[in-house]
Amino acid sequence: MTQVCETVTATTMAGLRSARDAVVSADLVELRLDGVTDVDVAGALEGRTRPVIVTCRPVWEGGRFDGGEEARLRLLAEAMRLGAEFVDVEFRADRRSLPQPTGGATRVVLSVHDFQGVPGDLADRVRAMRAEQPAVVKVAVMARRLSDCLTLRAALPGEGAHVAIAMGAAGQITRLWPAGFGSCWTYGGAAAPGQTPTRDLAGRYRVRTTTAATRVYGVAGSPLGHSASPAMHNAAFARLGIDAVYVPLETADVDDLVAAAEALSVAGISVTAPLKQACAKRCVSVDALSAQTGAVNTLHRSTDGWHGRNFDVAAFLHPLDRRGLGWPGERALVLGAGGAARAVVAALVSRGLSVHVAGRTPGRAQSLAEALGATAVAWPLHADVDLLVNATPVGAWPDTRATPIDSSSVRARVVYDLVYNPVESTLLNRARGGGAAVIGGLEMLVNQACQQCALWTGRPAPADVIDRAAREFLSSMS
Ligand code: NAP
Repeated sequence: MTQVCETVTATTMAGLRSARDAVVSADLVELRLDGVTDVDVAGALEGRTRPVIVTCRPVWEGGRFDGGEEARLRLLAEAMRLGAEFVDVEFRADRRSLPQPTGGATRVVLSVHDFQGVPGDLADRVRAMRAEQPAVVKVAVMARRLSDCLTLRAALPGEGAHVAIAMGAAGQITRLWPAGFGSCWTYGGAAAPGQTPTRDLAGRYRVRTTTAATRVYGVAGSPLGHSASPAMHNAAFARLGIDAVYVPLETADVDDLVAAAEALSVAGISVTAPLKQACAKRCVSVDALSAQTGAVNTLHRSTDGWHGRNFDVAAFLHPLDRRGLGWPGERALVLGAGGAARAVVAALVSRGLSVHVAGRTPGRAQSLAEALGATAVAWPLHADVDLLVNATPVGAWPDTRATPIDSSSVRARVVYDLVYNPVESTLLNRARGGGAAVIGGLEMLVNQACQQCALWTGRPAPADVIDRAAREFLSSMS
């Protein structure tokens, strides 16, 4: 079973002990002595209720200990003598002064860190580390691309216990699916770039029970920092009792995505900006809506390659259909000319509405309108329409007070904002105040997640679970 290790840091011993004792959802605690001004090893260990890894990372390895090396190694030696379960020692340190670990005593985690990238000689370093037969080899490198995770994995073949971590947004999969990288534990907390809270590692990502055979899904695009998709899909997999995990695959490069996803046997992908069109071109087949819009939002993989679907169109229409809105001949105005606007315009044109598109970059709005049978109009706007759709990110967290247009410039009977965080945007709030019917982006988001889940699992999606997970995730962000 993969364990969860929570890293705790503090500037005082009192702070370190109270952070240690506040850990609830981890199996192990990493006590970071570096950065503590009044270090007391015995005090750090006394009264612990969980096994610990004692670490005192020097500045030259990315830590905060800037004292002499002798003093630092004395702290680690003391932790070993006092029976700390693990002590993390840097491969680059001169370790000759440390006690030799004997059976049953402290186990050594021999570690190497590179905060700049993946060293070219990583595999050689790992071999040299393993030759010393530490209890655990730990390798932490900075991932600049998803493919760096593959290099990391290749450098750590199966023999011996290890922890493989790719730091940074592109390396998330190594922390969230540690079994896929052969890691005996994964670190949570907020001490290093890309770390996830331990409650999410244990809960949302179920790292203790996933294995190398777990099916992997993910959301691809950039940036993904505030994506609700992992919360929604992992909640659905858990409810359905399916051995699958869903992780962020952060990249803006379709070649990087395809290389990593194929090597890691990723079974399905939610595609978001800026990859929707590039991914459509990499599919061996796409559905009719993907062909019409030139964009996919969902990939699933079979033996012959990637198959693309576009659920954005149906998901956008779902809330209108539920309310009996959006009839042929009605006037619609769509704000924005990006990927989401393409799906919205295609959906409304397919329903026979008279669709106008306004973009801040007029050429983009013009070509989108021409391609999909709509009319481009100039921005700033003065209009009287049946349906106004905001397909720009204006009003989304964190700038939640912004609105894409002045509410007095457009009169609309129905206002539909694709923004889902906040659940009710300022645009919708004002429209509601003016008597319009309003629709927020969350319903669309949840509906497309349900369609993806059903495609990937072959079972009806638990819509209530997905909706609740999205709302909880969004409220935890505000
Ligand atoms: P995108 O491809 O980047 O397109 C964004 C569009 O908004 C572009 O046309 C851009 O103008 C325009 N825009 C950006 N900032 C603007 C500003 N300050 N003023 C006026 N226009 C501005 O993004 P997207 O994928 O279409 O997504 C757009 C929004 O829809 C995002 O908030 C996204 O989260 C949301 N969305 C929601 C769902 C859902 O399920 N609810 C699904 C998809 C998307 P330029 O053309 O000049 O760059």
